[in-house]
Amino acid sequence: MRRFFTQAGLQKFKGHFRSLTLFAFDYDGTLTPLTSKLSHAKLTHKTQRLLEKLHGYVPIVIISGRSISDLKKLCSFTPTFFIGNHGLEGIGVKGKLKTNFYQTCQKWKKRLLKGISDLQGVELEDKKYSLAIHYRRARHKVQMKRLILHTTSRLHPAPKIVFGKFVINLLPASQFNKGVSLKIAMHYLKAKHAVYVGDDKTDEDVFRLPGNSILKIRIGRKNNSCANFYLEKHYEINRFLNEAMELWDIEDPELERSSRT
Ligand SMILES: [Mg+2]
Repeated sequence: MRRFFTQAGLQKFKGHFRSLTLFAFDYDGTLTPLTSKLSHAKLTHKTQRLLEKLHGYVPIVIISGRSISDLKKLCSFTPTFFIGNHGLEGIGVKGKLKTNFYQTCQKWKKRLLKGISDLQGVELEDKKYSLAIHYRRARHKVQMKRLILHTTSRLHPAPKIVFGKFVINLLPASQFNKGVSLKIAMHYLKAKHAVYVGDDKTDEDVFRLPGNSILKIRIGRKNNSCANFYLEKHYEINRFLNEAMELWDIEDPELERSSRT
C-alpha cells in the first residue's frame, strides 16, 4: 500500500482515464469527516462543488452502509446512483430479494427489541434491509458488545455480522457486498475502469477484487488492507477530486472522447 500523492500514485491514476471511468466512493469518513452524531455527516460545500464538477465528466456512485433514504437526506450531491445497506440496496438487487431482506430484518427486529431494549446506551437502527445496533453511548463498551453478540447469536436465520465503530451491523446472508455492487455498477454503466475510495472494513470487499480495472484507494494507511494506495486522512479527498479535475482539463483527445461515451 503506497501513498497516493506520489509520482507512482498519480501515474496510476492517469492510467485509469484511458476509457470510461466510474468514480465510486464510500460516504462516512471518506467524503465526510467521521462524526459522533450520524446525522451530522454532511458534505462540505467544497467537496459538493468538486463532486458536481467531476460528475460533468464521469459517472459517480456512492456506496454506503447507510440506507438510500438516509443518504438522500444527508448528501447534498446527487450521484449517478446511491447504493445503500452495504450493497443490499440499489442496482442489481431485485424486488423479491429486497422483500426477503426486509422480512428477515423485521423478524430479527422483533426478537432483538425484547433482548436489548433494557440495555443502557444501546440503540437499534432499522435500515429496512439491514439492522444496526449502536452501543457508542454504553458505559462499558467491551461487555456491551459481548452481550449484544450473545443476543444476536440466537437469531434465525443467522445474520452476517459487520463490525463498525461501536456498531454491530446485521445483514441478511447474500452474495451482495460493496465489491459485488461496484462490479454490477461498472457493468451497468459499461465502465471498463473504476476508481474507488473508502475507509471501512466493508470497503475491503472492493479492495480484494482481482484484476487491475479498479484503482483502490483507502483513507488512512493500514498494513493489512488490499487497497493499492492511501490518502492520509479524509480531508485529502478535496485534493484528490481536484487532481481528477486537472486530469480532465488536459487537452487529450482520447479523454475528450471517453467523457462522451
Ligand atoms: Mg466509511
